[in-house]
Amino acid sequence: MSLKKSIAISACLLGHKVRYDGAHQENIVIQQRLEPGFHIIPVCPEVEIGLGVPRDKIELHQRGEQIHLLSCSLPLIDLTEQMIAYAQIFLHKHKIFGMILKDKSPSCGVANCKQWNTTGEIQYHGTGIFAATIMQLKPELPMLQSNQVTQSRDLDDFIAKVKKYAD
Ligand code: SF4
Repeated sequence: MSLKKSIAISACLLGHKVRYDGAHQENIVIQQRLEPGFHIIPVCPEVEIGLGVPRDKIELHQRGEQIHLLSCSLPLIDLTEQMIAYAQIFLHKHKIFGMILKDKSPSCGVANCKQWNTTGEIQYHGTGIFAATIMQLKPELPMLQSNQVTQSRDLDDFIAKVKKYAD
């Protein structure tokens, strides 16, 4: 068994072809910096809740006070509870010390997701349902959104937070 601390990373950032369109979003900088020192757990929450590859896009919509994860095509399917349940299962199954998640995703995005408000206007500050649930359950867990990695120092800062969290 690996003695390395575990970090979960959106599977598409690791080169897995799991995006809705069958592509990946490989980020070599993240991989090369983290793989030597950590046990990496790839996670694609949309695949894990049973959405295939390729699949229809899904979106964040505000309904009253709550944000819902909805299918784009009809019949409208509300995936919110399924995604929340999967995030709970994920944390129960894996002892992780940090997460790096793909930005803009209605599942993984931390803070810059497209989201429709109650009057149908688009906003760009939404949080994906998987990420939001993890943050709610583990507010201290170091979390980095992929677009925040612009230089190696960003990863150094993240790694320092992970080490501090593990202590
Ligand atoms: S952003 Fe998240 S849900 Fe979307 S493909 Fe990547 S890992 Fe899967």
